[in-house]
Amino acid sequence: MKSEPTEKSMFRVEKLIASYTKKSGTFTHPDKQVTDAVQLGLAQNLDELGKPLCPCRFYPDKKAEVEHRTWICPCDDMQIYKYCHCMLFVTEDGLPITQYLPEGHEGHSIYGEVKDPTPELGRPLQDKREEREKERQDRPS
Ligand code: SF4
Repeated sequence: MKSEPTEKSMFRVEKLIASYTKKSGTFTHPDKQVTDAVQLGLAQNLDELGKPLCPCRFYPDKKAEVEHRTWICPCDDMQIYKYCHCMLFVTEDGLPITQYLPEGHEGHSIYGEVKDPTPELGRPLQDKREEREKERQDRPS
């Protein structure tokens, strides 16, 4: 079982969440338990790895994963597609935005079409989509 994160990391993650919801025009999940669980996981990873690595994925080697930027919160999926599979950054109703996801992405079949209520905010890496996707694909698995 993982140890409790330090207060310092919990605070840093809380600040990250508050800042990114504002920047992206998203909300934290209305079920506080969901948000708390993701915050805890991010803070644990911050303590363990020095970066808030996404806690909702499996990594064969977490330390090696940190060398890539892909899954450090807010991850590439969030910054390119505004999609948070952890359900941390969602619409006011608690749904992850799927509007910008590529065709065939599982988010479409799970949640259907969820429009972005604030299209003028977020997605700072949308213009780097091809480059970042290529980086992701070229990685050794
Ligand atoms: S899916 Fe991305 S944005 Fe959402 S909590 Fe994980 S790293 Fe953060």
